[in-house]
Amino acid sequence: MNQRRTKIVCTLGPATESSEMIRSLIEAGASIFRLNMSHAAHDWVRAVTNRVRAESSALGHETALLIDLQGPSIRTGDVEENISLRPGDRVEFRNAALSPSAALSVTTNYDDLHRDLSVGDTVLVDNGTIQFRVISIDESGRVLCEAVSEGSMGSRRHINLPGIRVNLPALTEKDHLDIALAAELGADFVAISFVRDAVHVENLREELRSQGSHAAVISKIEDQEAVRHLDSIVTASDAVMVARGDLGIEVHLEELPVVQRRILMECARIGRPVIVATHMLESMIENPVPTRAEVTDVANAVFEQADAVMLSGETSIGRHPRKCVETLDCITRRMEREPGAGYQENLEIKTEKEFAVQSAVVLANSLERASIAVFTASGKLAKHAANLRPKQAQIFAFSPDLGVVRKLVLSRSVTPFQIDLAEAHDDSICQAIDQLREKKLVAAGDPIVIVSDILVAGFDNGAILLRHA
Ligand code: PGA
Ligand code: MN
Repeated sequence: MNQRRTKIVCTLGPATESSEMIRSLIEAGASIFRLNMSHAAHDWVRAVTNRVRAESSALGHETALLIDLQGPSIRTGDVEENISLRPGDRVEFRNAALSPSAALSVTTNYDDLHRDLSVGDTVLVDNGTIQFRVISIDESGRVLCEAVSEGSMGSRRHINLPGIRVNLPALTEKDHLDIALAAELGADFVAISFVRDAVHVENLREELRSQGSHAAVISKIEDQEAVRHLDSIVTASDAVMVARGDLGIEVHLEELPVVQRRILMECARIGRPVIVATHMLESMIENPVPTRAEVTDVANAVFEQADAVMLSGETSIGRHPRKCVETLDCITRRMEREPGAGYQENLEIKTEKEFAVQSAVVLANSLERASIAVFTASGKLAKHAANLRPKQAQIFAFSPDLGVVRKLVLSRSVTPFQIDLAEAHDDSICQAIDQLREKKLVAAGDPIVIVSDILVAGFDNGAILLRHA
């Protein structure tokens, strides 16, 4: 069977933490496992990581581990019982150190809230379900708001401030501890939430490197500030996530598909893998089948040639985790047979190596049943081949470095393998082709376009060969 091009990211949680479930998800087609640090305790993360690594190697199927940092999220504090609200009700949001000065009052974890807000601004609580308008601000650290909608407000609810430039640090104390854990566990990807500036991405990467981690940094685009700095953030990142959960609250709803498209086009132009995330199969948290709108949304992400689609609650707490992966597998495979959006036409090609890879993809596109085999030390050549979005050809990437192999799992159309390079270059190519034939990924006589920057001495910029399986 043909390899699926679009990769599937699964968030693990109580519904999927066992070895059996992890194995089942890998068999169904999951390629990246995400651990959401907003909810996960360190010992749990350690245990689950060991299970992911063990099941992947038992199945002989490389998967990648993504640690998703909580980032500077603003939250309400604890309330004794849920506050039920009607339009017009007034609630005070106060600094944690102050005592209540209104009948309805909650603390927040952000002491500068009153400095960033102005009278008339919108405050959204609990994933945007409860809407408030700012009525008055007290310099001592109190913001009085009026409820615009009805709702019930529990403890530690997430606060969104659409369009407000907040003064929060890029990484919190908790994030620093979680970064150390990611380094300890050899995470392949670390995602930065609520990134607002390219400098945040660079700082995170430096912190990872200083702790010996080679993790790739994924920027989650989730507010207007990130959209404003899209170009520089994408450039600074190794990969990008369209974090539609928060993004859909932070921008006007009707802007969400427009912004999604912009992010995908920008990633295609600069050449970074991109994940479309959140609510892809939301109704399947409960139901065994998706809604028609969800099917079409997933298909649209494939049409836009995203590298990956992501499941959150669907697999972390949902009732049908494996069914969700099977559903994504089925929709993506079907949609991949249709022509895509072709955003890669604007891909910036700069280096000689990149031109060499482009020639290989053009060659593969012109040959029936062709595939592309890339021998790459750093993974760059294989990523570039993926960015060129070959039409029919699969990309088989071979690298001696397991860390490189696992990171390539995210890239569209790429199936990566770890190989030990043979003394003679030709032997490495033969071994690789044997492996592909054994796994029935190529058939005898199929053309294979080979791109390499490690096998052919004197061809540091990448050599292209044509072989047949
Ligand atoms: P989250 O990020 O699930 O950590 O909030 C993704 C999103 O906002 O879509
Ligand atoms: Mn989010």
